[in-house]
Amino acid sequence: MAGLGLALPGTLMQRSVRCGWPGCRCHADPPELHGPYWQWTRKRAGKTVSRQVPDDQVDDYRQWIDNHRRLRELVAELEDLTLAVADQRAGRHAPAR
Ligand SMILES: [Zn+2]
Repeated sequence: MAGLGLALPGTLMQRSVRCGWPGCRCHADPPELHGPYWQWTRKRAGKTVSRQVPDDQVDDYRQWIDNHRRLRELVAELEDLTLAVADQRAGRHAPAR
């Protein structure tokens, strides 16, 4: 598992945004939004956390998100294996009838 490297939950998406300048073209009619920019988002304890991702870091984020998915799969396999081992031990230690 340690061989996976960095890992990150969440999703990566492209978003077009409005800025805070009232006179900007992004507030015009029709609006010309800024971007699209890459944005990473995740939910943690009911709160959404997001940050803008520089173009040259998008591949890294993809890799980290991939790693995290793989990590979740490995944890699920480990849980199944652990239950199987627990069952085996229970069988071995069970009193003879
Ligand atoms: Zn703007």
